[in-house]
Amino acid sequence: IDTWASVPQAPPDSIFKLTAAYKTDTHPQKVNLGVGAYRDDNGKPWVLPVVQKVNEILLKDTTLDHEYLPITGLPEFTSAAAQVLFSAGSAALKEGRISSVQTISGTGANHLAALFLAKFYQWNGPKQVFISNPTWANHKAILKNVGIEPVDYPYYDPKTIGLDFSGLLNSLSSAPERSVFLLHACAHNPTGVDPTNEQWEKIADVMLQKGHYAFFDCAYQGFASGDLDRDASAVRHFEQRGVPLLVCQSFAKNAGLYGERVGALHVVGATHDAAVRVKSQLSVLQRSEISNPPTYGARIMALILNDSGLFEEWKRDIKTMADRIINMRKELFVLLTDELKTPGKWEHIVNQIGMFSFTGLNTTQSKALLEKAHVYLTENGRISMAGLNSKNIRYFAESMDQAVR
Ligand code: PMP
Repeated sequence: IDTWASVPQAPPDSIFKLTAAYKTDTHPQKVNLGVGAYRDDNGKPWVLPVVQKVNEILLKDTTLDHEYLPITGLPEFTSAAAQVLFSAGSAALKEGRISSVQTISGTGANHLAALFLAKFYQWNGPKQVFISNPTWANHKAILKNVGIEPVDYPYYDPKTIGLDFSGLLNSLSSAPERSVFLLHACAHNPTGVDPTNEQWEKIADVMLQKGHYAFFDCAYQGFASGDLDRDASAVRHFEQRGVPLLVCQSFAKNAGLYGERVGALHVVGATHDAAVRVKSQLSVLQRSEISNPPTYGARIMALILNDSGLFEEWKRDIKTMADRIINMRKELFVLLTDELKTPGKWEHIVNQIGMFSFTGLNTTQSKALLEKAHVYLTENGRISMAGLNSKNIRYFAESMDQAVR
């Protein structure tokens, strides 16, 4: 019997499809701006020098073995990860109100958070989580997998290529009380558009008034501005104001540990007692999902986060990555506006933050870039700034100029 006769063929993941097409392209000036991973000025993956150093330390350490980690992860990692996110002075941290669990990078943190909410959140009506329109495509899939309905809230305004702040506020005010809102802590993917500090304060005001729950996804701390504290300011502000919240944390981008799958979920509770109970249930869920999280990436991050010298080196490496991306934004802006006099406004290129930029190119223009110039980007006009470097930026700017004329 053909057991799987009725299984339909699933479409390939659009980003991975783009990379595959890029690889087979033989055009000498092809550019890959689809990929969501940092590249150095030679277009190559970059192992952070601090990670290289820690690799050598770990290699020489004869006391290490290959036993299982505890179900909730390496304690030296999870506690230091909470500290770098919330800061050592955080009241929630000092009062022992945060349950921190090591996860399979940011994706695993999002999944565990969604699973935990699906089981234990006091839903006011149907199980639904509000997500920004647009958002990281995986958010929808992750929520649906655990029986939660994703509902869009307005976020990006194509007219201004910026934030639809009034749409966002309206949606916060009109949602039922105690709704769950998924927020990008910094460097919004895919738009690169973040609320300002004043706007975050207003968002927190409404969330408190309505008793909403903040589901923070923090995949780019430090990678966005080059400063770990600055990129955590929305999360810290919400924590200080007492907005109920959880945070999904990833070290894929800011430590270049994509394949190591090192991340954490932090659930902030009202009391220490609540945090202990929450952690016990997260542990039960984690056990049935993955039993124990992976060791190697957690060991790397534990060393970096708990040693002041290594921590300073890591901060320098983060700044190297963030600064290169910020410089690419500036150069692209200057090329388009001053040199090529490309029609349109391009300030958003420098105002946006993080790895991604919504260029404002429409589907036709994005497709033209791909077909005529061999520049690989998604059809929504999103580019990864990390794919630009001193060798290809002029070619890209000229191709973009032609695409919009
Ligand atoms: N959330 C967002 C918004 C992201 O952009 C990413 C990475 N693309 C992730 C979570 C998770 O990535 P990872 O699982 O590699 O940490």
